[in-house]
Amino acid sequence: MRQNAVKRLYLMQVGIMPEYQIPIVCYLVQTGDGKNILIDSGLPEVIPEGESEFENGRDVIEQLLSIGLKPDDIDTVVSTHYDGDHAGRHAAFTKAQYVVQRAHHSDAASNPRYAAIRPQWDQPIGRIRLVDGDTELLPGLELIETSGHVPGHQSVLVRLPETGAVLLTIDAVPFGEDFTRGRQDGGSNPDAEATRASTIKLLDLVEREHIGLVIFGHDKEQWETLKKAPEFYG
Ligand SMILES: [Zn+2]
Repeated sequence: MRQNAVKRLYLMQVGIMPEYQIPIVCYLVQTGDGKNILIDSGLPEVIPEGESEFENGRDVIEQLLSIGLKPDDIDTVVSTHYDGDHAGRHAAFTKAQYVVQRAHHSDAASNPRYAAIRPQWDQPIGRIRLVDGDTELLPGLELIETSGHVPGHQSVLVRLPETGAVLLTIDAVPFGEDFTRGRQDGGSNPDAEATRASTIKLLDLVEREHIGLVIFGHDKEQWETLKKAPEFYG
């Protein structure tokens, strides 16, 4: 295995939507040469007014601590998008570079949807790496552009030495039951056409890359069956 390749994937539940028991999650990827890449950061410490459907659990800082990491140990924060349940603790990672799709970052600047947690994601531009479309971040870690839920949403493909390829769909496909070519959108996404196209793009990717594990963004039933930190996928 190459030293800089991906070695481990940790799953962390940091909060919940109590009404439906929907998990709010983030992920940590570790490489053989000791790099720590966080994927999303979960809910803000104080949930903004009007977003009472969310509830904090053991937050990302505590979860990282449980596997021996401090916020300053995080080298990169992959930001899938700036919704409050995904980017709520970004500002805690003061040594990290943030990686986000340019289309998303540009849209967020003038979109009230992301205003409440703007202090989290609106970091100095020198610390943000804007990417355009599908991007290999490092060996074994690929960003997959999946607009629809929001413009410039990204999913993540992780190649592990033993588990093989794992796809994190994030909110492109929050629930396993939606992972079909005939997906009907219930109207929860602003762009139904793009949502459908991104779903098909991910289904094609799973076929082409023989992906054995697809982890959906907010799927309670699936989540219960997965390994969570301090356990990991290797
Ligand atoms: Zn979400």
